[in-house]
Amino acid sequence: MTLDEALKAIPKGLYQNKKTGNVYEVLDIGEHSEDASLFVIYRRYPNISKRIWCRPVEMWDEKFDRLRIVKASELTEDDAVIITNKAKCNICGDIIESRHRHDFKTCSCVNVSVDGGLDYLRRCYKKDQNSYTELSEYGVKEYRDRP
Ligand SMILES: [Zn+2]
Repeated sequence: MTLDEALKAIPKGLYQNKKTGNVYEVLDIGEHSEDASLFVIYRRYPNISKRIWCRPVEMWDEKFDRLRIVKASELTEDDAVIITNKAKCNICGDIIESRHRHDFKTCSCVNVSVDGGLDYLRRCYKKDQNSYTELSEYGVKEYRDRP
């Protein structure tokens, strides 16, 4: 596989470990300085560790599925993972985001709060559900072989 082919086959973006369900971000394709073999350069998503890994390009597909990002309102799959947990208050205009499980954020007019990080979407609101706009995103597996 050439570098161009590898960049096309494994584009930058989010992938999910088939076994653990953990999400990773592909940063680039690297080339070995001695033998020119190709490696996927990646890290955890969200970026919670200093570690950056590399894995031979030809071994990538056996371990990872590519994720397609969809808005919460367009979600139809039930095995999706939360990629961002955030909402916009339609009263004060604040956009608030929960980055981890116990990260409880409230907008400045105290109408809406978000919680749950990437584990679950929890919402508290004073008015009604139309007083905020859901901005969360999910990752769903992209099956390259499907029509
Ligand atoms: Zn508000």
